[in-house]
Amino acid sequence: MGLRETVISYAEKQAAVYQQIALDIHAHPEVSNYEFFACKTLSDQMVREGFQVQVDVAGHRTAFTAAYRSAKPGPVLVYLAEYDALAGLGHGCGHNLFGAGSCLAASALKQVMDEVGGEVRVYGTPGEEGGENGSSKGSFVREGFLKDVDAALCAHPGSGPHTLSDTCIACAPVDIEFWGRAAHAAGAPEKGINALDGLILTYNGINALRQHLTSDVRIHGIIVNGGDAPNTVPEYAKAKFYIRAATAPRLEEVYQKVERIVQGAALMTGAKGRMQPYQNRVENMVLTRSFDALFAREMAALGEAVEEPKPGPKGSSDVGNISQVVPTIQPNLSISPEKLAGHSEDFKAAACSAYGLRFVPLAAKSLALTGLDLILEPDTLARIKADHKAAVAAQNDE
Ligand SMILES: [Zn+2]
Ligand SMILES: [Zn+2]
Repeated sequence: MGLRETVISYAEKQAAVYQQIALDIHAHPEVSNYEFFACKTLSDQMVREGFQVQVDVAGHRTAFTAAYRSAKPGPVLVYLAEYDALAGLGHGCGHNLFGAGSCLAASALKQVMDEVGGEVRVYGTPGEEGGENGSSKGSFVREGFLKDVDAALCAHPGSGPHTLSDTCIACAPVDIEFWGRAAHAAGAPEKGINALDGLILTYNGINALRQHLTSDVRIHGIIVNGGDAPNTVPEYAKAKFYIRAATAPRLEEVYQKVERIVQGAALMTGAKGRMQPYQNRVENMVLTRSFDALFAREMAALGEAVEEPKPGPKGSSDVGNISQVVPTIQPNLSISPEKLAGHSEDFKAAACSAYGLRFVPLAAKSLALTGLDLILEPDTLARIKADHKAAVAAQNDE
């Protein structure tokens, strides 16, 4: 059997095992950074596949790495796995399939690693949806897990046609807090300093800023603490905001403007104001077109059509953080013939449907074969790395 056939037949042979894992994770949804069941299920499976596995890495209890190194030298390829669910909804983003597909891709590629050389890894990256402790891929980057990596691959469940990697916008999650002084709101209001006023002025200041922002910018937030009792001047108030923009430099510019609004509101009220990140900043996705073209070639070889992503509003994903440091692809592979809203009951149902489960072997085969190409074609890998470098540099010129 040739190398490609070995990879394909292993992915097909093992598909049912990984589809069952995807179903089990779907039935046990866990929110960001609490994915204990999913992390154990996937990492145990990687142990059975003969990978060196470490759980609780990069400062996230539910993160893991799995690695298989060939005796022969060659590139280091990473398959990114996500497996968190949405609070209150469950697997409405299909990360049960995402994690299973990436693990099967790595396992399929492992079958030929001794022959072709290099190293294949899975990075189990919890918390993509944010929540407590935030998304983990920024932590993997910060702690040096990408330093020796040549390329990263993953696929996200989508609906409608399969599509190539899309841009994601950068996002800074921040806490905005004000500290004032409590006083009786009727008896001695002049003695109080109203922290809530500081927050409301900030909220309105951000609304005034909106009309002078470029259309890629999104700023949205909630007040999580607005005081304790109406008859006491609030001494503390807190909001959570996401500040998003198409690129890191644009985000930094807007970030500083919002910081000045906080300072202005503090000046107006006499309260102390502070804005600070409460978790990893999510970076925008850097597209490496030649890498996506290689993936499209493999999809075509598998008899699958894949389209360019449609223009329109974008979300954020911490795959962007990885894409800032190594060439990365994250195509969308369809789990429903009809177009579905993301983060919905419909999407959740598709993520455990017979149609949706086809994601697992398709992601595994297409991503493993793309990885195999990177190992077998050093010139292609070198060109992809050069293209990536240029794309990273170009985003700062916008
Ligand atoms: Zn999502
Ligand atoms: Zn997602």
